[in-house]
Amino acid sequence: MISRSRTVDIGGSRGRLTPAAAASLRRVDAELGRLTDVNSAWRDPKTQQEFRDAYLAYLDGGPWAPIALAPEDSVHCDGEAIDTDDGYNPHTVAILNRHGWFHTVYRWINGKRVLVEPWHLERDASRDQHRRDPAPAGGANTTPAEPDDPEEDDMKPTVHARQESGNDTEWTLGHPDIGKDLPVFTGTATTSNSRLTPDKSVKVFRGFMVTVDRAIFTAWARAYAKGTSEITSRTDRAGYVDIQKQLSLTAAEITPK
Ligand SMILES: [Zn+2]
Repeated sequence: MISRSRTVDIGGSRGRLTPAAAASLRRVDAELGRLTDVNSAWRDPKTQQEFRDAYLAYLDGGPWAPIALAPEDSVHCDGEAIDTDDGYNPHTVAILNRHGWFHTVYRWINGKRVLVEPWHLERDASRDQHRRDPAPAGGANTTPAEPDDPEEDDMKPTVHARQESGNDTEWTLGHPDIGKDLPVFTGTATTSNSRLTPDKSVKVFRGFMVTVDRAIFTAWARAYAKGTSEITSRTDRAGYVDIQKQLSLTAAEITPK
């Protein structure tokens, strides 16, 4: 992991990377003819440690929290990983690959190697065919960094609000590790496809959980959505249920029980 002072701004409000990774990304930007989409780049080790602590507390019997790597194991904290919607597009991925950016988070599911984080790419400088090219715009240091170990488990939870008459009335936290013992949710909550937490404040389903308690939503939003302003979706009842069904289906597909 590296400190903020050893990273550089990659422009377009996209965050920070090591100078070498930033130079590479500028070459990708130039080849794409636009800014590469980046939702998350370098992460502050302190923030990553908070996610890690929450996960460890969960393992000790605390409230559910997603798997999170320690800062020293997270390639985001090394400034050499990006989360990008361009990771879903084979054409863009081919360009990123030539510049040394690769998908790294796979799991074995039913004997097959499945890409479970299409948005997450890490830089492998030794496989960057353009690493000796000059970086366009800005004189960043382009010394290649050592390749890192692939990141194993860094699934991002998503936060969704159900909105009726202009107000949020219920919230969903989605993550493939939630409710692994439960069957896939197909649109109607029953006693066999859900269960209440002991304090009855949260109902758990396969792949997601819901609450009508605003304090719990606020905690989810603080931990996973950078406050309430960046929640993943805010939809009417029908759209909200569709999202829950999709979360449940995706969880069953990518994470075995
Ligand atoms: Zn990532």
